[in-house]
Amino acid sequence: MVLDEKLEPVYAAVTARNPGETEFHQAAREVLESLGPVLAKHPEYNEHKVIERICEPERQIIFRVPWQDDHGEVQINRGFRVEFNSVLGPYKGGLRFHPSVNLGIVKFLGFEQIFKNALTGLPIGGGKGGSDFDPKRRSDDEIMRFCQSFMTELFRHLGEHTDVPAGDVGVGGREIGYLFGQYKRITNRYESGVLTGKGLDWGGSQVRTEATGFGAVFFLAEMLRARGDSFDGKIALVSGSGNVAIYAIEKIHDLGGRVVACSDSDGIVHDEKGIDVELLKQVKERERGRVSDYADRRPTAEFVAGGNLWGLPCDIAVPSATQNELTGTDAERLVRNGCIAVAEGANMPCTPEAVRTFLAAGVAFGPGKAANAGGVATSALEMQQNASRDSWTFEYTEERLAGIMRDIHDRCFETADEYGTPGNYVNGANIAGFIKVANAMVALGLV
Ligand code: NDP
Repeated sequence: MVLDEKLEPVYAAVTARNPGETEFHQAAREVLESLGPVLAKHPEYNEHKVIERICEPERQIIFRVPWQDDHGEVQINRGFRVEFNSVLGPYKGGLRFHPSVNLGIVKFLGFEQIFKNALTGLPIGGGKGGSDFDPKRRSDDEIMRFCQSFMTELFRHLGEHTDVPAGDVGVGGREIGYLFGQYKRITNRYESGVLTGKGLDWGGSQVRTEATGFGAVFFLAEMLRARGDSFDGKIALVSGSGNVAIYAIEKIHDLGGRVVACSDSDGIVHDEKGIDVELLKQVKERERGRVSDYADRRPTAEFVAGGNLWGLPCDIAVPSATQNELTGTDAERLVRNGCIAVAEGANMPCTPEAVRTFLAAGVAFGPGKAANAGGVATSALEMQQNASRDSWTFEYTEERLAGIMRDIHDRCFETADEYGTPGNYVNGANIAGFIKVANAMVALGLV
């Protein structure tokens, strides 16, 4: 897609000011490509340099994380927190622990988070953080020592009204527990609202664990409904086998579809009978195993080391592992094999070529900032329960999540229509999210 001529210099400045941050460039460009018609309707955004300001984080923190491994050896990692935008509320977004983490990745995730959080309709700003720490094959004690050291620096930047992290890749309930414990110890405050994704016994919310996966499937269900279709009898592929993937699979099965394959970074597991979610949870959540272990215990499943999931025939695809995992060639194959709907469970898992291919083929395509917003939305519901010292039932919380995903769908759908690109949820999500943030930025003055 071409950029509007007013936006070309803005994008050129983003790439020049942030050299080498390719994922951030990609995420910024994708949003800017949608905004040409918005500037034509709203010249005040240009006047207030809203887009230039939105592309520059309010604050970026980089810090050393020293810790000791089980052999007594000192290890040093790098920690990041990018506080991108707080006009709608405290910075909100997860922490990612993965060896690939660098400033460009944290910025792409933080940038996406601004618009995603705006789309939820809840009072949360955008931020993201993490570390290049690799939790794989580390003992519980090592994970705890790392989390404690990470929080010993990060705590001074956090607060329930300032910055509220959550989990992401490599950060689940166990890590949030160690991080919260250290925050509580250092500050001498039981400030539940400072982290989300907490355990149910100590301030967590029902449905937070399930929320991103369930939410992505609710969003898909809405896209299908808008086309007079449903999940009934549909065959689906879900990449990854982590938090998002597991609960996307569970909800697709609940709604009458069948997920026949999932993956991890070692390979794919193909199970024509449908993935056994309870066995997958046992292997991945309780034993911290691999999808190959799942295949070893499931007679109908086959593990293919290094295999490509997207070559399998399906009606629906839910990429839920990592950024840029689904390429233009993968998208062409999916379209050829009859795929009619895609929702990004992960953040930016489809390359720009893949997105173009899906849109050109008329596939119902739900971009991550809309489709995977259920996680952060439920985090905001967790904050709401913490603030009122309340805890809601699973059923009520799931109902709230479903309602939020329906609203996000409708907002994207209507906005795409209003801006002359009916059915294009990428434009709908970018424009609807942007306008909400931009109006607040204008209203709050030059901050
Ligand atoms: P997890 O750490 O729970 O799981 C990630 C999964 O993706 C693992 O199965 C992992 O396999 C797999 N994976 C990672 N990298 C690759 C790769 N290069 N190739 C194949 N598989 C890979 O993370 P989440 O499920 O929480 O997050 C997944 C995605 O969803 C991320 O993009 C995240 O930003 C996004 N997301 C998560 C939210 C949440 O609430 N958790 C909210 C919104 C978005 P392996 O174990 O081999 O590394």
